Amino acid sequence: MMVNWDNIELPESFLAEQNIPLSELTSFRVGGKARFVIRPHSYETIREIVSFAESNGIRCMLLGKGTNVLASDRGFDGIIIRFDAPLHEPVFRGTRVIACCGTSMTVLARETIRRGLMGMERLCGIPGTVGGACAMNAGAYGAEIKKILTRIRILRNGTDEWVNVKDGDLGYRRSIFSYPEAIALEAEFCLAQDDGTAYEIMHDCMERRRQKQPLELPSAGSTFKRPEGHFAGALIEQSGLKGCTIGGAQVSEKHAGFIVNIGGATEADISALIAYVQNVVKERTGVDLEPEIKRI
Ligand SMILES: Cc1cc2nc3c(=O)[nH]c(=O)nc-3n(C[C@H](O)[C@H](O)[C@H](O)COP(=O)(O)OP(=O)(O)OC[C@H]3O[C@@H](n4cnc5c(N)ncnc54)[C@H](O)[C@@H]3O)c2cc1C
Repeated sequence: MMVNWDNIELPESFLAEQNIPLSELTSFRVGGKARFVIRPHSYETIREIVSFAESNGIRCMLLGKGTNVLASDRGFDGIIIRFDAPLHEPVFRGTRVIACCGTSMTVLARETIRRGLMGMERLCGIPGTVGGACAMNAGAYGAEIKKILTRIRILRNGTDEWVNVKDGDLGYRRSIFSYPEAIALEAEFCLAQDDGTAYEIMHDCMERRRQKQPLELPSAGSTFKRPEGHFAGALIEQSGLKGCTIGGAQVSEKHAGFIVNIGGATEADISALIAYVQNVVKERTGVDLEPEIKRI
């Protein structure tokens, strides 16, 4: 449905910014302009924005730090809710912590270690928010959000509620607490007392990231999900695609599982490279690669 923007005025309290390039909001550094971007200053504002968008037929999209998304060159003709900053400090009770979903995952993981807890040390270095991590069931080096997430406060169908996390709510890079099905507002994690190894494990994982991942170039992390019984990066490398380039998009020379923006890439370049990699890998290894990244 086309929206007649002339008849629509956003409430001043939203503090909306206009015509913001999505390339500034996403780690791939590509994408056209978003008509409106709003950084919520309260949980209530998020509810109000969603309700305002629904009643005016406006498209809405939720972003955390934009580290797992590919934004369209055509931009987004609607409202982006950019929930990438904490609305309050984490609250610690024994081995439990409740964090705002706008909090940086890495900042939270470091804070839990500082307070003598363990369970998040391997998740340190994932560059998104707590909300993005819950939405993607982010994981690394054998750890994943679903192993520590116990309760989550979500906005779903206009209702703001705390729910207990059940088996099956999250799976490999999928979660029912993901936009548009739900907006994750706060999350409760159950951790353990540090047995004295948390800092060292965190340090080791961060070092492995620095050595293996192309952190110096814009990307959205691993482009593809891990196919059962394989590693996407190994299949891509085996198919001779390391360094393969279309426009400004390249299969990383450092880690074939990452597509990177080597300068001036467009969404079209990245999409074309994703499709090319999928075709060649299928042809040479028989395995289907499914993108992990979300699209705007
Ligand atoms: C260099 C690099 C390394 C990475 N390493 C890892 C890794 O080791 N492991 C891993 O799992 N991922 C990794 N990623 C991918 C990414 O960082 C994670 O998926 C992260 O959890 C996404 O968080 P975000 O805040 O950036 O979410 P976004 O990219 O902003 O959003 C991702 C999806 O989640 C939804 N979403 C975001 N916030 C919420 C919310 N509050 N409620 C509901 N839905 C929401 C969005 O609508 C979108 O569909 C990496 C990315 C980069 C660039």
